[in-house]
Amino acid sequence: MWVVPESEIAGLMTAEAAFDAVEAVFAAMARGDAYNFPVVREAIGYEDALYGFKGGFDRSALNLGLKAGGYWPNNQKHGLINHQSTVFLFDPDTGRVAAAVGGNLLTALRTAAASAVSIRHLAPEGARVLGLIGAGHQSAFQMQAAARIADFDRVLGWNPHPEMLGRLADTAAELGLPFEAVELPRLGAEADVIISITSAFEPLLMNGQVKGPTHIAAMGTDTKGKQELDPALVARARLFTDEVAQSVSIGEFQHAAAQKTISDEDVTAIGRVVIGKHEGRGDAEITIFDGTGVGLQDLAVAGAVVELAKQQGKAIEVAI
Ligand code: NAD
Repeated sequence: MWVVPESEIAGLMTAEAAFDAVEAVFAAMARGDAYNFPVVREAIGYEDALYGFKGGFDRSALNLGLKAGGYWPNNQKHGLINHQSTVFLFDPDTGRVAAAVGGNLLTALRTAAASAVSIRHLAPEGARVLGLIGAGHQSAFQMQAAARIADFDRVLGWNPHPEMLGRLADTAAELGLPFEAVELPRLGAEADVIISITSAFEPLLMNGQVKGPTHIAAMGTDTKGKQELDPALVARARLFTDEVAQSVSIGEFQHAAAQKTISDEDVTAIGRVVIGKHEGRGDAEITIFDGTGVGLQDLAVAGAVVELAKQQGKAIEVAI
């Protein structure tokens, strides 16, 4: 099997390659060539950790495997980021393990790539103002990936913990974009594209705060009970996601679905837009992409990075 250590990923994988891999796997899902396995996610009753597996099989790219890991909220005391994961790929011809790949940076890149894919396909024409809700580890990757896709000329940011906003200011400065920390009513009114990436369990962005045309990539909610958006905002918008079943059960749309203001039929898999089977934004005032994070995204970027690592002599071969 091949091992690609976490320390090599930054030198191998780019935001561009992550975007291509994630867009391709969303398309494969929409064509019926790829499917995700049921997610296992458990509060293990130790260190407040959430641990689980996300797996799947992409018959077109021949990526089979899973990502194992989760969220350790107290990791700062170990000098580590809160998300810890490893991707395992298996040979679909034999079932033998084919690769173990550090999954931390890949998770950030594939998550940012998913919202970037949604921005490419759903953002209103001429989008110029990017709004970021959230200033944790993922937020910088989100801003970087979004800035590749649209011609933003400024960034607005808000975070429940204002002391973290420096990360957004620094990232915007690296991208050469003016940054302003604002309150949510201004962010909702002025941003053409909004990305939310927090660990919130209550709605942050309210329906009355958003003035269209706007595209919202809601990326933080990946577990039952989490929530970033007012369900009335969800009910008002045209809805897209990575995987419909996951969005209405553990994603942002779980709340509007529970209130029965939306049903599964109101939610479109983004892959259908990618392959031209759905018009996308159309004349909608507001579009929302619920990025719940599917295992196939992890396998797609891991498969790509294993190939790059082999080509560049950075993959370690291990007999198992
Ligand atoms: P982080 O711990 O580095 O940052 C947490 C962010 O959430 C910060 O902006 C913080 O201010 C905010 N926050 C923390 N507690 C909060 C609360 N109780 N209410 C409101 N906001 C709160 O985390 P991160 O790595 O940046 O991840 C952010 C979120 O994105 C997490 O919820 C994580 O599970 C989720 N995530 C989703 C995907 C996906 O594919 N959809 C992938 C990775 C991470």
